[in-house]
Amino acid sequence: MDMVSSTEWQKTGAPGYLSVDLSALKRNYRRIVSTVSPARAAAVVKADAYGLGAEKVSSALYQEGCRDFFVAQYGEAVTLRPVLSKDAAIYVLNGLQPGSETDCALRGIIPVLNSLEQVARWRAAATLSGRKLPALLQFDTGMSRLGMSVEEAEALAANAQLLENIDVRYIMSHLACADEADDVHNGLQAEQMRLIADIFPGIPVSFGNSGGSFLGEKFRGAMVRPGIALYGGRPTDMLEHPMEPVVRIEGSVVQTRTVPAGTAVGYSATYIAQEERRLAAVSLGYADGILRSLSSKGAFVYQGVRLPIVGRVSMDSTIVDVSDLPEGALKLGSRVEFIGDHQTLEDVAEQAGTISWEILTSIGNRYYRQYI
Ligand SMILES: *Cc1c(COP(=O)(O)O)cnc(C)c1O
Repeated sequence: MDMVSSTEWQKTGAPGYLSVDLSALKRNYRRIVSTVSPARAAAVVKADAYGLGAEKVSSALYQEGCRDFFVAQYGEAVTLRPVLSKDAAIYVLNGLQPGSETDCALRGIIPVLNSLEQVARWRAAATLSGRKLPALLQFDTGMSRLGMSVEEAEALAANAQLLENIDVRYIMSHLACADEADDVHNGLQAEQMRLIADIFPGIPVSFGNSGGSFLGEKFRGAMVRPGIALYGGRPTDMLEHPMEPVVRIEGSVVQTRTVPAGTAVGYSATYIAQEERRLAAVSLGYADGILRSLSSKGAFVYQGVRLPIVGRVSMDSTIVDVSDLPEGALKLGSRVEFIGDHQTLEDVAEQAGTISWEILTSIGNRYYRQYI
């Protein structure tokens, strides 16, 4: 236990190492672009680019030719706006927040208008500023989350004044089931989307997310909005997983011990060793995205050997069973993999009973981050 192996990130005092492979990210973007061509591909960088760093990710994708960026909240757009060149468009999915209209127009941020009321406020802002203002119009085609109804689409189309001084760049909608290629709901939403597109002839459509990008032409429109696929997540449940991994996460061993049969492990003593076991405490916990649902389910990996998590995941540490490794193989400071060559993002999501989106956005900010 005396030998301490140390690396750059460990010297900084960070509990873990997170690498984001920007070249893999760029290849994933290119892969999507070639799949959806002649449609164009935006990038969804909400929630700090799914936890990976919106500024770094967006700049890398801009270099790769991406000119359309979607965030969820207005504040995210304000932060990102000065990072990107003027010719990049930034759209706010959650809509036009009351009170933000003038500021939004001045900053050149493009709202996704989700209701007639938002349309009216943007029109008023345009009239006030004396120029046309750009916007996207979102319609609900079967998710009941954000966007206007078919009836509201008809109302807008029937009265040109309602959209006066609004430069509608795209009409858009969002798929609820695109991660399941065979779900009948996808086809129903595509039909609704076509109906709404017919109401606005000449205005391009933005439809598919990551899943939709791979489901075929009618799920794309003129611009797709992938998020998770850029970051290496599996876009749909079809056989092949077309994306490259982007994220790697490691922690380090902070203590090892051998316990006799009958020993309780972790909070609430949910795990009792049935025989003598060798254990290690790893430096990452649920504050670092090692979700609590991985308690006695997930694993870390050391040189290809799976180290099962035993007992509850704590906030700042996780206990793993290392009995399958030769005695003394793990030392204080040994680096163990959470996401990497031996355990993928999808593996972790499955073990946690959740989706890759939640794993990435739970990563937290304590990691030593390296952008490759
Ligand atoms: C989050 C989001 C996306 C991206 O979804 P992914 O499944 O991550 O590709 C696209 N469009 C809208 C409206 C979203 O909210």
